[in-house]
Amino acid sequence: MDDAESAEALTRVLGLIRDVPDYPSPGILFRDITPVLADAEAFATVATELAALAGAADVIVGIEARGFLIGAAAALVAGLGIVPVRKAGKLPLVADSVTYELEYGTATLELPADTLAPGARAFVVDDVLATGGTAAATCALLADAGVEVEGFGALLELTALGGRDRLAPVPVHALLRA
Ligand code: AMP
Repeated sequence: MDDAESAEALTRVLGLIRDVPDYPSPGILFRDITPVLADAEAFATVATELAALAGAADVIVGIEARGFLIGAAAALVAGLGIVPVRKAGKLPLVADSVTYELEYGTATLELPADTLAPGARAFVVDDVLATGGTAAATCALLADAGVEVEGFGALLELTALGGRDRLAPVPVHALLRA
């Protein structure tokens, strides 16, 4: 696919993202990627474009839960494995965990045991980059495990929230911006 075809395919993906006002709480505009996942052509576009960004990574790390779906698809296209970083309590064997601040309260993410050796080069994937707290916590978790974070890729970046800045110096890629 050349650049023009790629841009056209991504514009089509953007058109499939559904904006849901006041979900999950009043004042939040939720960007629902479900219609993108359900559309074979759009799903393939997302997988292919994210895979192209993985660069020198030797594994993709997907953030629960929508990061699993697009991260796994991208991993398959890139010929890489996928490691899920999960919310607390879902993994039988945990290598390490990180707790970070949300707008209200905290959240914990866990890295599965025996999946990433120190020195592994990971490309981290999630659906939406908002404030960057989730992605930054995931990158910190990986760095603590001795993993080199090659980059972070999102399907959609909400630029006004400044999440990209929280990830520095990790290179941040977004297929689409809003
Ligand atoms: P943040 O930590 O603020 O960057 O939030 C990122 C995580 O929350 C991602 O896993 C997203 O799936 C989800 N998220 C945050 N804000 C939104 C939004 N407006 N629409 C859809 N998902 C969101």
